[in-house]
Amino acid sequence: MKDYLVCVDSDGCAMDTMTIKHVRCFGPQLVKEFGLGEWEEPILARWNEMNLYTKKRGMNRFQGLLLMLEEVDARYVKISGLEKLANWVNHTDAYSEASLQAAIEEAKGSGLLEKAFAWSRRVNEEIQNIPGEEKREFPGVRDAFEKIKAVADLAIVSSANREAMEEEWSRRGLLKYVDYAMAQDVGTKAACIRKMVEEGYEKSKIIMVGDAVGDYLAAREAGVAFYPILAGREAASWEHFSEQVLDEVVSGTYTSKRQKEEFDVFEHGLL
Ligand SMILES: [Mg+2]
Repeated sequence: MKDYLVCVDSDGCAMDTMTIKHVRCFGPQLVKEFGLGEWEEPILARWNEMNLYTKKRGMNRFQGLLLMLEEVDARYVKISGLEKLANWVNHTDAYSEASLQAAIEEAKGSGLLEKAFAWSRRVNEEIQNIPGEEKREFPGVRDAFEKIKAVADLAIVSSANREAMEEEWSRRGLLKYVDYAMAQDVGTKAACIRKMVEEGYEKSKIIMVGDAVGDYLAAREAGVAFYPILAGREAASWEHFSEQVLDEVVSGTYTSKRQKEEFDVFEHGLL
């Protein structure tokens, strides 16, 4: 066990798997499941924008679904059952199938909750159908991992499904760099980071690398540093991490002032 620990998010951060999932699976299945073909083009554009290029990047699929359907309801066509969906999304303690299933039973015949469930299942199937060779790490990731492993331990901190994540990392030969693999089954990202503190790493020697504001908030909640991977500039972000930020972390010069400089560029780039 080394003194330093680098926590890395998976989707959209280390792995270039986020854009493809939204463009090819989430958006098209939403249009299909909710019968919105008439407004397909603006809905797909808005779905991708919201989930990839705004401060809500990385939000849970059901939070995204609710926001999208609220916009559709306001702009295009009345969506009935929105209150029941909103009630579940805003109050559930887990965005799991079991929790959604319980809400469906409780609501006794809310078609919208049932559609949300069916949509989520179809998205999972579509994601499974993405050929493995299209799910790759961003350029610069492997090089960064080599450099990280020379001075620190490495943990995956992801809110993705564990099997999918491990399959993606293993297919690319990246699991050999990983000391801890944590996914949604471990808990929130903040909970995963706290687990590493319990494991014995000092908070001041942990950094979370992520591509979404939620990753930053998890790092802040757990009391550790954060470094952003910028959407659309992932390779340059990883190179910058390898060539400058990692050294700063290990020499104690990645201060809150330095973190704010990186964070400001990140936040400025998101809608
Ligand atoms: Mg991510």
